[in-house]
Amino acid sequence: MFVDAHLHLNEYEDTDRVVSDAEKERVNLLITDGYDLLSSQKAVEYAKKYKNVYATVGVHPENLDGLEDAYIEKITELAKHDKVVAIGEIGLDYHFRVDNKELQKRVFAEQLELANKLNLPVVIHSRDAMMDTYEILKSHPLKRRSLLHCYGGSFEMAKEFMKLGFSFSFGGVCTFKNARVAVENIQNLPLESILTETDSPYMAPEPFRGTKNEPKNIPIIAKKIAEIKQISVEEVEKQIYQNTKELFNI
Ligand SMILES: [Zn+2]
Repeated sequence: MFVDAHLHLNEYEDTDRVVSDAEKERVNLLITDGYDLLSSQKAVEYAKKYKNVYATVGVHPENLDGLEDAYIEKITELAKHDKVVAIGEIGLDYHFRVDNKELQKRVFAEQLELANKLNLPVVIHSRDAMMDTYEILKSHPLKRRSLLHCYGGSFEMAKEFMKLGFSFSFGGVCTFKNARVAVENIQNLPLESILTETDSPYMAPEPFRGTKNEPKNIPIIAKKIAEIKQISVEEVEKQIYQNTKELFNI
């Protein structure tokens, strides 16, 4: 059984078809992530609707404009559903904006504290903000093993994050021609610390780069990881399923 540990089902009109096409490829465990209040609410609805789908709820650093003060209460309420397995995706993104760094850091820290309060892991998005992400995580120790999604940092940093109890998920990027960093991380990280994701509808793997991604593409990622680590796809499949179940307590 393959796992898509990070996607956004709310970005599709035809979720029944997306989930069933994934099942046909034996992608039977999907974790759909919220990135604001509405998508978090939808994530919970999909988790209720589909047996194989679990949800995360949280506010992404790119969605802070107009964020209501009571957002943390709303996320807390959504997180009470028993198929909500993490707070996410949360984090820091300095790629498009650096003018609201302090706000990004505050909302990130508040959600880390919430995860600890609820004894949930977190799913982290970090873009062009690796050091600040690390500093905040270091000063807010998490109770649960957690996930850095679409990890694009160095292996040196990955080792530091591992000490803080993090696993790493990889998606389409590791299939790109210029994927040196992702390939190096996959090579060096223990398989026990690796999860597969699509981040659908974004980040479609080769040969579908540039098209709308779907969870059914997970076997392409698993195959690539097997190739990089020079092990069988079956071994990758089995271990990553185990890693995902453990991390999210499924
Ligand atoms: Zn995402």
